[in-house]
Amino acid sequence: MFQALLLTQSDDRATHAAVQPLDEAQLPEGEVRVAVAHSTVNYKDALAITGKSPVVRSFPMVPGIDFAGSVVESADARFKPGDAVLLNGWGVGEVHWGGLAQQARVKADWLVPLPAAFTTHDAMAIGTAGYTAMLCVMALQDRGVTPDAGAVLVTGANGGVGSIAIALLSRLGFEVHASTGRANEAAHLKALGAAEVIDRATLSAPGKPLQKERWAAAVDSVGSHTLANVCASLKYGGTVAACGLAQGMDLPATVAPFILRGVTLAGVDSVYAPQARRVSAWDRLARELPREVLAANTGTIGLADAVGLAPRLLAGQVRGRVVVDVAA
Ligand code: NDP
Repeated sequence: MFQALLLTQSDDRATHAAVQPLDEAQLPEGEVRVAVAHSTVNYKDALAITGKSPVVRSFPMVPGIDFAGSVVESADARFKPGDAVLLNGWGVGEVHWGGLAQQARVKADWLVPLPAAFTTHDAMAIGTAGYTAMLCVMALQDRGVTPDAGAVLVTGANGGVGSIAIALLSRLGFEVHASTGRANEAAHLKALGAAEVIDRATLSAPGKPLQKERWAAAVDSVGSHTLANVCASLKYGGTVAACGLAQGMDLPATVAPFILRGVTLAGVDSVYAPQARRVSAWDRLARELPREVLAANTGTIGLADAVGLAPRLLAGQVRGRVVVDVAA
């Protein structure tokens, strides 16, 4: 038996979340069984736990879109008992039981060997949010964005994606501007590497199709009017890596920035990113993200605490990353 956070749905379609013991025989099919050490609470996990958005496709469901731990048994030659592994995405925690449990059984193809530089806690202090931040940085670099082009804006700055994006970009030599609704966290954002902190209210309302050219590039985890205003404020030839919808899924924009300023809107998906890109992103995180950033940006909770944390995370009240120690 092992402990897991289990989501069930009642007849009125309300989601209920509770930690309870499960039997290994109940685990879904997969070639590799993993003793999970650490998981996290990402934005999508908070949506699943609260039932605020139809993230979960079938009930009962163990949420948790990422985890790190060690292999217990494997029917796949690539993994053997004791190997340290991590997993992000692939519908885990949405259609396949996920990481907010002491055990998981998954497809071997979904697992990434844990980089030697990381403990399981480190890997989840980065988690899907940090790995997505790296995918966003890679999306900008793939399109030729360099520090000499000008400042880079990061929206949702105090969130998981935003905070790690700031740290990564500043260490690559970019001048980073951080957009946040939490001015009281300005010192934390500057410690992460932000050169300037702006009020997110300046970006969140409907704006003109073309605005003053301010940033060479951006990482956007917010969507909606914010992303539209970011597109309208990019310099000629600028690029925005768009990965999130914290303000909304809509994009009330015009084509003006694209056809008049050659702006590029680069979409970033972490869930089904190809394996080679994942390994490359995690390898870069191991080399480029200093450990002190993780220590300053991460809180740790137990499995049962995830239920109370979820609504606070959706309300934008959680700073940085939260690791779940599934044994606690
Ligand atoms: P967090 O909740 O940690 O961060 C989101 C941040 O967005 C908040 O901290 C807040 O930052 C800001 N924010 C919240 N609500 C609003 C609002 N109404 N208007 C403007 N800004 C707001 O989430 P994550 O960092 O984990 O994820 C960020 C987004 O990226 C989510 O939408 C998530 O679904 C998406 N995502 C997408 C992935 C992909 O594969 N494409 C992978 C991972 C995440 P502040 O307080 O500083 O303003």
